[in-house]
Amino acid sequence: MKTLGILGGMSWESTQSYYRLINQGIKNTLGGLHSAKLLLHSFDFADIERLQAQQDWDSLADMLAEAAVSLEHAGAQAILIATNTMHKVAPEVASRLTIPLLHIADAAADELQRNGHKKVALLGTRYTMQLDFYKKRIHDATGIEVITPELAQQEEINRIIYEELCQGELLSSSRDFYYRTIDELAGQGAEGVILGCTEIGLLVSPENCTIPLYDTTDLHCAMAVKWAAA
Ligand code: GLU
Repeated sequence: MKTLGILGGMSWESTQSYYRLINQGIKNTLGGLHSAKLLLHSFDFADIERLQAQQDWDSLADMLAEAAVSLEHAGAQAILIATNTMHKVAPEVASRLTIPLLHIADAAADELQRNGHKKVALLGTRYTMQLDFYKKRIHDATGIEVITPELAQQEEINRIIYEELCQGELLSSSRDFYYRTIDELAGQGAEGVILGCTEIGLLVSPENCTIPLYDTTDLHCAMAVKWAAA
């Protein structure tokens, strides 16, 4: 089994899910008492969020790259960035490593393609929905059209992520808002929805949606398990 290095704490609410899902995946694959070999660098999310709000992606790239390099030196054989948003700086991080960076959007793209979709919707932070780094990577890899909610809905989705989900608050009013948004996107032709933020899966579940949900936390962890157990 190979050792995984995780850049986490963005937020720790979803890093907990990574720890559980990767360990469960390794146990399911290898059986018995097997558990994942993991190294975790957990950031103070307040520092990360402040730099995101300033759009200071250079400083964020330096911080994440430095942490990833230290995990490589400590024995990690691949790196996971346990957040969609911070994949904005994935190319800079990857360029400083000699080990692979397992990209969360590639995990999503593979699954969307496997399910034969032509058009899907993306929910995530405002950075993930509005900047090009995520939608373009999926579109370039698969040809799938990626749509996003209208601007006012994006702002509310983003607010709920930072003010509630990343702080461990799961409110039914916010859950209803996400479901209404997903219904509208289905009405616009989306055949599935990428949960492109690692905390959204804590709030919504597929049983309540008319179209499939692609939870990037699950998909990223499955990709990591496959890689580590091979
Ligand atoms: N974990 C979230 C994501 O997957 C948002 C927190 C962040 O900005 O990193 O994008």
